[in-house]
Amino acid sequence: MNTLTLKLVDKYEFMTSQASSQIVMTLKVQTEVLLAIHDCFYQQGLIQLMPVILSPITDPLCHPVYNAYINYFGQRFQLTKSMIFHKQIAIATLGVKGLYIMSPNIRLEVSDLKNSGKHLIEFTQLDIELKEATAQDFMSLIEDLIIHIFSRVKDSCREELVKSGIDIPVPQKPFNIYCSWDLREEFGDDFGSKISFQEKDPFWITDFEREFYDKEDPERKGHYINYDLYYPEGFGEALSGGERDFDYEILLRKIKERNQDPKRFEPYLELAKKGSLIKSAGGGLGIERLVRFLTKKKHIRDVTLFPKVPGEKVDF
Ligand code: ASP
Ligand code: MG
Repeated sequence: MNTLTLKLVDKYEFMTSQASSQIVMTLKVQTEVLLAIHDCFYQQGLIQLMPVILSPITDPLCHPVYNAYINYFGQRFQLTKSMIFHKQIAIATLGVKGLYIMSPNIRLEVSDLKNSGKHLIEFTQLDIELKEATAQDFMSLIEDLIIHIFSRVKDSCREELVKSGIDIPVPQKPFNIYCSWDLREEFGDDFGSKISFQEKDPFWITDFEREFYDKEDPERKGHYINYDLYYPEGFGEALSGGERDFDYEILLRKIKERNQDPKRFEPYLELAKKGSLIKSAGGGLGIERLVRFLTKKKHIRDVTLFPKVPGEKVDF
């Protein structure tokens, strides 16, 4: 046996007993989650795209992460942080009513987030975009999806859940909706985490100032037609998304307002200039966070076999 194999055995062989049955339990839940997603979206007539992992353009995100570039034959690629631009282009091009992607995302977060319990630098995002949709259309689809997933996991993983003492209440439509401005007034800047501890079921928070592609309310500058889905019991953010801005002048203004360089987004802006982008709404839902919520794990590292936690050494 060479050193590498020995290391692998050392690290992972001890898991054959309790730890391994725990991870198998979370992976069984994850398997049911994935089947429920495909099943629900198939019934809704959405089509699935394969993920893009390398691209000259990716989500600028609204919080700081380290950037990694890969130079290849004179081109500079980034690893996907989210497929937002590809989704907008695909939905405008394909003429389908909606699409989704199981998209690996790389977000090289700062090491302070190591103990958040919610962050991995490599995770899978269920990325969704709906043609001509409003925020309400999208939120309604996601509520159906969550109900479908929770019901399936509750049924198919009954034995495992009972063994772990987990109850999964299936929420009813419509979910509660709060505006971030009201919550900030009531709870301060940490409103998301505070309200998450108070709620009993998944709920929405709306109107966040963030990336330039989320639609700004044309009647109320500084307000946004966007949303986050949150889990209760302190588990926090599940999904972020919004209606999209697609008008060239508006996008350009918002990029500049965020002190970003329009050159970075050139091919995308060219499409906007030609009028090739369309009205849509969408969002991205973290798969590992969803599995963490359903299995009530304290740290997100416990739902994946090869966790990449911000600031931690990675062996595999
Ligand atoms: N911006 C979202 C994210 O955090 C995705 C989306 O808006 O579709 O990845
Ligand atoms: Mg978010």
